[in-house]
Amino acid sequence: MADMITIMESGKCMECGAKEIDGLSCFELFGYPLVWEHQAPELYALHFWLVSCYMIQHPSHYTQEGYRLLVQLFTEAYDHGWNNSEIQKRNREVVGQIGKIANPLASKDRNRSLKYWSMTIEDLYLGGEEHAIANLLKWRDRIRSEIK
Ligand SMILES: [Zn+2]
Repeated sequence: MADMITIMESGKCMECGAKEIDGLSCFELFGYPLVWEHQAPELYALHFWLVSCYMIQHPSHYTQEGYRLLVQLFTEAYDHGWNNSEIQKRNREVVGQIGKIANPLASKDRNRSLKYWSMTIEDLYLGGEEHAIANLLKWRDRIRSEIK
C-alpha cells in the first residue's frame, strides 16, 4: 500500500467520510494505530482487524472480486471467531485463488463513492492509543452489522 489510497474532498475522505483532523488525511490517520501497535502486542494481535476494518471502508482499493473476498474473509473470521493462524491460512487461500486483488488503476483514476459508516478511522484516532483496543473491537462490531 505504498500508493495513497484515499482522497480528501472538502475536508472529508471521499469514501469512508472520515474528517480531516490535525491536518491529517484519512490515510495518514490510519498510520497512527499502525505505529501504536508496534509498542503494544495486544493491539498488534488484532492487526488483521485493524487493516480489514480500514480497507473494507475503502473498496476502491480493490477489484470487485477482491473486495467481495475481503468482506467474505472478514465476515467468516468474525462469525466463527477465527484466531490469527486460521485467518492467515484462509487469507493465503483466498489470495492464491484470484491472484491480484488490488485495483490495477492508479489511485487518482479510481471511482470512489461515499458510504455512511457509524465509525471510521477518525474515531480510532480521536480515541487515542489508550483506547485503541476497545475502539477497534467496537469498530469491528459496527462494521459487521453494517455490511450485508
Ligand atoms: Zn477514508
